Amino acid sequence: MFENAKFVIDSREAFDGCVFVALKGEKTDGHLYVRQALEKGASLAVVERDVDVPKEKLYLVKDTRYFLQQMAAQKLAMYDPQIVGITGSNGKTTTKEMIHHCLGKELAFRNPGNLNTEIGLPLSILNDYHGQPYAILEMAMNKPGDISTLCRIARPHVSVLLNVGTAHRGVAGGDEQILRGKLEIVENMREDGIAIVHSDPRILEKIKEKKFLTFGFYSGDYKLVSYKYEEFSTIAHYETPEGKKKVRFSAILNLGQLVNVAAVLAVFDVLGLDVDLSKLETFIPVDGRFKVIKVDDVYVVDDTYNASLESFRIAVETLKKLGKRAYAVVGSIKEQGIYSEQTHRQLGRILEQLDGVLVYNIDHEIDAMECSKIILKSDEPKAIVEQLRNLLEPKDAVLFKASRAVGMEKVLELFLGGKKA
Ligand code: ADP
Repeated sequence: MFENAKFVIDSREAFDGCVFVALKGEKTDGHLYVRQALEKGASLAVVERDVDVPKEKLYLVKDTRYFLQQMAAQKLAMYDPQIVGITGSNGKTTTKEMIHHCLGKELAFRNPGNLNTEIGLPLSILNDYHGQPYAILEMAMNKPGDISTLCRIARPHVSVLLNVGTAHRGVAGGDEQILRGKLEIVENMREDGIAIVHSDPRILEKIKEKKFLTFGFYSGDYKLVSYKYEEFSTIAHYETPEGKKKVRFSAILNLGQLVNVAAVLAVFDVLGLDVDLSKLETFIPVDGRFKVIKVDDVYVVDDTYNASLESFRIAVETLKKLGKRAYAVVGSIKEQGIYSEQTHRQLGRILEQLDGVLVYNIDHEIDAMECSKIILKSDEPKAIVEQLRNLLEPKDAVLFKASRAVGMEKVLELFLGGKKA
């Protein structure tokens, strides 16, 4: 009855013929919007309890969230694609996009970066998966248990664990919890599955019984052994069990992203795919995720989508390699809970390596940061941009980075004034 149906969970997005699924969230309850969804054209509403609309319009289930997850699992079981599950504190979206870029959309399905949760993942499978032989799925974790749920929907043949950092450490309940939660992707892969994990001793110690390959910088089965920037390209050398590989990307990739490419090479080998590496060379980083553009001979790094200590560390390191002088416009790292002060103190130390720091959107989190390189603190994008324009000279590099909620993209947009490289 739901074959080829399109599912919607927000009544405002309902359209003719769609199926509206009423979910109970923290803020509101989808059951309150069933009528609205039907008025907007939904042909049916999946609900947990009766709602005052014609009965033939309702499909009653015990748990609407579980219904969505089961429907997605069944759809995957029907087509039985090779599933690559990707998790980690940093780099999920970019790694997934790289694999997808190489395989192409005829061969591979991937879920969008914002549909990587227990609701988003099933929705994207149900609405957009067309039976391709590979499903490259990014799986996000807020707390232990999340990845297990995602693996029940899409049990990976290949489980990729990129790294275990400190992102969302306040929500997850600490670093041990983050490690535990992320390891679920290895624990919940298929019996005959194989894991590809960062060669981090904390991870390796916990997965001894499993079948796995490792990757890393100078370490692991698949390793990045050197990299350099030339004009606007990145040349990286890898050593793998299948031999040495050289990749010349036509973009600037940072060290973290280059290490993740080692995992991508491992995925191709494990799947038995002989991928033409020139495909990888044409990959362009995703907007907001360490995407470097050149404007008026200045390297501008758009890393506005998110922030964690690890991704800041990598960004600063790369920035110093790129520019004659290195500046950053920064905002706070969110979801750090009781660790917030500690995180921002550490951030201050990382930023000491730069030539100057401008702080945007002063909140109590970033206010705890001490750094002798701070030139300006302001809530006004205009003030930040004016100061930057006075500071920057040709060949400099400037980074824009903060957690999503800070809205750093507003400053970047104003700075670029419509310009793109
Ligand atoms: P995610 O989907 O996990 O949030 P993204 O691909 O959106 O990851 O990248 C987010 C940030 O993480 C970017 O700033 C990127 O440069 C950084 N990053 C990617 N890989 C690593 C890594 N291995 N270590 C540290 N930072 C990384």
